[in-house]
Amino acid sequence: MALTTIEKRNGTLVPFDSTKIKIAIEKANANVSPEEQATDCLIDNIITAIKARFSDLGIAGVEDIQDMVEVGLMSGGKYALAKKYILYRSTREALRRANTTDESVLSLVSFKNKDVMEENSNKNAVIISTQRDLIAGEVSKDLTDRILLPERVVKAHADGAIHFHDKDYFLQPMYNCCLVNYSDMFTNGTVMNGKMIETPKSFQVACTVMTQIIAAVSSSQYGGQSLDLKHLAKYISVSRERYRKIIRTEDIDEKSKEHIVELMLQKEVKAGVQTIQYQINTLMTTNGQTPFVTLFINIDESYGYVDEQLMLYKEVLEQRIEGIKNEAGVYVTPPFPKLVYVLDEHNNLTGGKYDWLTEIAVECTAKRMYPDYISAKKMRETYQGNVFAPMGCRSFLSPWKDEDGNYKFEGRFNQGVVSLNLPQIGILAKGDKLKFWEILEDRLSICFEALMCRHRHLLGTPSDVAPILWQHGAIARLKPGEVIDPLLKGGYSTLSLGYIGLYEVTKLMTGESHTTDKGYEFAEKLMKALREATDRWKRQTGLGFALYGTPAESLCYRFARIDKERFGSIKDITDKNYYTNSYHVDVREGIDAFSKFDFESKFQPISSGGCISYVEIPNMNKNLEGLRQMVKYIYDHIQYAEFNTKTDYCHECGYDGEIIIDPETHDWKCPNCGNTDHRKMTVVRRTCGYLGSNFWNRGKTDEISKRVIHVGTYSLDRFNNATYDCGCGES
Ligand SMILES: [Zn+2]
Repeated sequence: MALTTIEKRNGTLVPFDSTKIKIAIEKANANVSPEEQATDCLIDNIITAIKARFSDLGIAGVEDIQDMVEVGLMSGGKYALAKKYILYRSTREALRRANTTDESVLSLVSFKNKDVMEENSNKNAVIISTQRDLIAGEVSKDLTDRILLPERVVKAHADGAIHFHDKDYFLQPMYNCCLVNYSDMFTNGTVMNGKMIETPKSFQVACTVMTQIIAAVSSSQYGGQSLDLKHLAKYISVSRERYRKIIRTEDIDEKSKEHIVELMLQKEVKAGVQTIQYQINTLMTTNGQTPFVTLFINIDESYGYVDEQLMLYKEVLEQRIEGIKNEAGVYVTPPFPKLVYVLDEHNNLTGGKYDWLTEIAVECTAKRMYPDYISAKKMRETYQGNVFAPMGCRSFLSPWKDEDGNYKFEGRFNQGVVSLNLPQIGILAKGDKLKFWEILEDRLSICFEALMCRHRHLLGTPSDVAPILWQHGAIARLKPGEVIDPLLKGGYSTLSLGYIGLYEVTKLMTGESHTTDKGYEFAEKLMKALREATDRWKRQTGLGFALYGTPAESLCYRFARIDKERFGSIKDITDKNYYTNSYHVDVREGIDAFSKFDFESKFQPISSGGCISYVEIPNMNKNLEGLRQMVKYIYDHIQYAEFNTKTDYCHECGYDGEIIIDPETHDWKCPNCGNTDHRKMTVVRRTCGYLGSNFWNRGKTDEISKRVIHVGTYSLDRFNNATYDCGCGES
């Protein structure tokens, strides 16, 4: 046998490569006088000795090899060189062991660490509890880089080739996002903080229990969670029966009794929904942020309680239209929970019996940006006839069946994400297609390695680390001490390969945007190659790999910054300080809303692990018909889409419209009074599939400022032969 394998310090196995030994000795050689240097002959002898020593085992540790080099140098009489080599080795060792978080943590508490403080627009980084989370994050990132991840992955992340997401939580066995199994938790009860919570006896109680579950779940994971609201509908019916019982013996006629019951019920539904909206927006989890919650609004007739579903959805939308009071007592757009509204045959604005609810949804979108829209028709085409909520903002599960052959979505989760910097591959390939696919293959293999690190890191986790998730129903009902491993395998949970900058890479490789025929041909081929990689990994490992359009809140800036530093300013690529999200059309490109939906919808079935398309629209409050046309269009044309509109508020002068980004200062400014104080304005923008309102880093602000409006008189003309005023005074 021969020595073929090296075990690195972190336990990963790499092929044995004798040139690495040679290079290390030569590096030390450069630091001693010529007569002290090791000759090529001595180096060869040392390598031969190493090979002989480990030939039986076929494998050696890095430390074993280094020991033998030291011995070899000394027995060759090269004492000064051996000393240099040992010194170099111990310096490297010290570096590996050194804690490098001092500076980042101290700059955090003195409010000087802008990078970390602005990374997430939903975290207010000056608050003490948020800072504790961020400090823990710095420690986690440091240990992840030095100890937990293989060097190849760490280097690829540092070079901006890939992004290993959520390093700040990697230290602990946490997953990303999930669909909470409320059906199970409500029906069978749950346990929180060691206390039994039984099945709710009224709607109001169900709402309270739900917000408690939300808080507990979001403190045990780092991404978003979703709730199918239909599970609350049943408890409206429970409350109705309660009221009927109370009033039964009263001496009034039946009709009046029912009327009173309905009045009381409406009051309770209003109060319950208020509880949800206020609780979620005022909660602060241990992650230092409002929980990332998505409420799924899908009129599901097969579920039953249809009247109750409708009553609930109407209330949720109407309360959202009203908004939520800020500290000055003014109604503003609440960033959470995110609302997702499903368009189906019965409510897609073509005369269906539930169109009236969609009308309210449209008004809500105009005023408060949410809800986003899912086309049940398009979704069924991609997901084996199923309609289900995204996990958090846009992560979609793959269909999976339980032992009885039934599809199951609730109670499943995403293990984590690693994203690929596509533009960087384009820059390195310099237009050479062959080289491009070669580099891509190599980068994909790093992504696979990184995702497997995520998976292995979760293996062996006992259910006790997050009882609400693993023992009390949010995900599973495991016993104490049981490990979560079966839930990580067989495609039950997903592992996401994300990607950024399809627009930029296409531009680099073809000279054109992916919206042209030539560009599209390349872009589609690339997207299919990414998808094929995840399918291949799935076949090889049996794990739930999926292709995912990364929400690039700060990543669009990070990748562009790194590439600009490494490769300089490249027109239309690095010069604009951000890369474009997933497969999206460049924000600067003039394209109307309908064409954008049509074009981007081609990528959605390929990116079935998650994605969302958006169009940028002006304030549409005075042009609901225009918005209605776009919503109607979604049903037949695109699976998942959202609208970005502007509903800002200036506390200084009371201006209620769009707060602008000053082109000179790149900062936010009230167009009415010139106020630039972030603390005295409410600016709500779509940042990562959620809304954000705590302001953004420079890259994101630049990207927001360059967003082109996708609707004006021209685009609606095409479909209606009528002219619509968009209502904002702009054309
Ligand atoms: Zn103002």
